Amino acid sequence: MSFLKILLVSPEAVPYAKTGGLADVAGALPQSLAKLGNTVRLVMPLYRHVDKDKFDLKQAASGLTARIAGRDEKFNLYKCGPDIEDLEVLFIDHNGFFDRPELYRDPSTGNDWHDNDERFGFFCRAVLEICRSQNFIPDIIHSNDWQSGLLPALLKVDPSCSDFPNTSTLFSIHNIAYQGNFPPDSFDKLGLEKSLFAPAGGFEYWKNISYLKAGIWYSDLINTVSETYAKEIQSSNEYGYGFEGVLKDRSDDLFGILNGIDYSIWDPSVDELIPAKFGPEKLAGKKRCKNALRKKVKLPMVRRDIPIIGVISRLADQKGFDLIEQVAGDLMALDIQIVLLGTGDEKYHKLFSTLQKKYPRKIAALLEFNNEMAHLIEAGSDMFLMPSRYEPCGLNQLYSLRYGTIPIVRKTGGLADTIENANPVRGTGNGFVFAKYDAREMLNTIKFACEVYRDKNVWEIMMLRGMRQDFSWDASAKKYIELYNKAIAKKASAIA
Ligand code: ADP
Repeated sequence: MSFLKILLVSPEAVPYAKTGGLADVAGALPQSLAKLGNTVRLVMPLYRHVDKDKFDLKQAASGLTARIAGRDEKFNLYKCGPDIEDLEVLFIDHNGFFDRPELYRDPSTGNDWHDNDERFGFFCRAVLEICRSQNFIPDIIHSNDWQSGLLPALLKVDPSCSDFPNTSTLFSIHNIAYQGNFPPDSFDKLGLEKSLFAPAGGFEYWKNISYLKAGIWYSDLINTVSETYAKEIQSSNEYGYGFEGVLKDRSDDLFGILNGIDYSIWDPSVDELIPAKFGPEKLAGKKRCKNALRKKVKLPMVRRDIPIIGVISRLADQKGFDLIEQVAGDLMALDIQIVLLGTGDEKYHKLFSTLQKKYPRKIAALLEFNNEMAHLIEAGSDMFLMPSRYEPCGLNQLYSLRYGTIPIVRKTGGLADTIENANPVRGTGNGFVFAKYDAREMLNTIKFACEVYRDKNVWEIMMLRGMRQDFSWDASAKKYIELYNKAIAKKASAIA
C-alpha cells in the first residue's frame, strides 16, 4: 500500500474550536490517518476561540492573499503539530472574518453572520493558497460540510486551479440540513465564470447558490457518517432536506462510514475530567461519579436507586426535544431524574428552564456549552436520551456505551447502526430503541428502560456489553483510506 498526502479541511476541530460532532471527527480522524503512515494536514480558520498559547501555535507565513468579492484579502498562516509524525494543523488567520465571538452565528441577532458567504468562500480560496505556499499539493482534499463545499468545485471549474491536476476530492456530509445557501449575488463574489450559475447546474439551488450543492456535485466521491443516514438522505425530503434528488443522481458515488470515537478523550478509565475513573473490570467509580454529578447539578438524593437520565445536545429541532415537551408531565412523574446540558434555540432554553423551575427535584437544565460537564454527565448518568428526528451518526450514544450509560435512542441514522434494542430474556442489545417519531413511543421506551434498570444484574450485564464494544477510529480511518484511493482512481481514469 502506498501512503497518501491528505489535506483535511474543516470549519471546526477538537481541541481548538467546537460546536458539534464534526469537531470531534476533524480532531481525531487526521491523527488516525497519520498513524497509518500517511502525510496529513488539517486546515481550519483561526477563530478567536483558538488558544494560541495553549496549543503553541507558530506563525508560518504572512502576507498571503486570497480573492473574494473582488478584493484580495490578506491573511497569515499559523501552524501547530500535535505530537504525531506527519501531522500538522494549519490555521487561516484573518481577523476580519474569524476574530468573532461565535463561529457561524452572530450572538447579538441569533442569525448566521451576514457575510458567511464571503467568510467561507474566502476560506476555500485561502486553503488552496496555503497548499501552494507550503508546497503541499495533496493526493486528496477531504472537505467537510458546506463551509468547505466550494473546494471540490474550484478544483473542477476554476482555470486558476490547474496547478492541482492530480488532486482528487472527497466531500463528507455531517448534516444535510446545514446547506450554506446564499442569494444569487453571492455567486458573483466567487470570481467564477458566470455561465456556471445556471438552473440545474452545480451551484444553483432554487435560484440561490448552495455551497453544499457545489460540494456534492463536483467532488469525486461523497460520503456521510453512517450507512443508514446515507440511505435516508436519498430517500425523501424529510431526511434529504431538498437534496434527495441531487444525492440520488450521485448514488453510486455516495458512501456511509461511521464515525469513530477518540478513546484517549472519551473513556472513563483514562478520563481526567471525571472525579473517579472506572472501567468494565472496576465499576465502583461510576457510583462516585453519579453522586458527584447529582451534587454538582444540585439534584436532591431522593433514593439511591433512582436512575439519572443524561442529555447533552445542541438544542435544535433535529434532536427531538418536541417529543420531550409533548410528554413532559408524564416524564416528570416517572421515578427518574434528568440532567440536561445544551445550548441552541431560544424556545428550548425556555422549555427547559420552565421545566426546571416547575420540577426542581426532577430536572437540572444547564443551558451552556461545557465540555467538563459533558464528561461528568456521561460518567454519572445511568441512561442517555437521544430521541432525534434524524441523526447522521451521533457521538454521544457511543460515548455513553463506553461510560456504562445505557442509550435510549430513536432508530434513525447512526443511532440505528450502533444501538440494538435490549432483549433481557435473550441477553442481547446495548440500549433501548424506539422506531416511530412519537412522544408516547419514547415515553414507553423510557418506562421499559426503568423496569429493566430495577434488575441490577441484568442492567450490569448490559452495561458491560456496551462498555466492551469498540468504536475506535482504527476501522473507520481504514475505510476512509479505501475511499480516498477510490476517488484517486476515479479521477485518474477520468483523465486517461
Ligand atoms: P451534533 O454533531 O449533531 O451536534 P453529535 O452527537 O455528533 O451531535 O456530537 C455532539 C458533540 O458535541 C458531542 O461531543 C457532545 O458531547 C458535544 N456537545 C453538544 N452540546 C454540548 C454542550 N452544551 N456542552 C458540551 N458539549 C456538547
